[in-house]
Amino acid sequence: MQLLTYLDAISKKEELDPAGVLYFNLIEPIIKADKKKTEEELEEEIKKRFKMKGLVLADVKVIKMMDKSLEKGYSSLVPVYLGKDEEISEKSSSVASKEQFEALQKYIIKTIKNISKEILSGKIDIKPYYKNKKTPCEYCEYKGICQFDKNKFGNEYNYIPEVKKEEIWEKIKEE
Ligand code: SF4
Repeated sequence: MQLLTYLDAISKKEELDPAGVLYFNLIEPIIKADKKKTEEELEEEIKKRFKMKGLVLADVKVIKMMDKSLEKGYSSLVPVYLGKDEEISEKSSSVASKEQFEALQKYIIKTIKNISKEILSGKIDIKPYYKNKKTPCEYCEYKGICQFDKNKFGNEYNYIPEVKKEEIWEKIKEE
């Protein structure tokens, strides 16, 4: 939501088409290595951990501008896999067409409006997500303030089911 909101704002302000939304973890990674690994190999391992996640425009020209060293296979920078004829593998990549980006931007705006309406009508219950047995509360520093406790009456997680990529696009199109 956050990155897509920024993307929507900047692309409208500057009248630009989106090329993607990407992020990576700033926490310095710890890697397992034996003494035989060279400095370069270690650097390569660390680089892999900084590979970006997100959604990229399904356009080989744009992708190659993002990762200039990419010929075929997995990009070491962006979530894309190019086949032997430089075709984008939908299955192994996180990509969206221009139309899908447009639909996504509309969906995001609609969602923000709905959330705002809900907040203004007083719906401010604490409902952290629960997906794949994970919740944001695990690492949250504000536990002591928000007091969320799933064992307390009225405290519920927002359970997010596992859905396929195609199903998400279908839902966005419908909205
Ligand atoms: S501990 Fe509270 S504030 Fe932190 S993620 Fe969970 S619900 Fe949100």
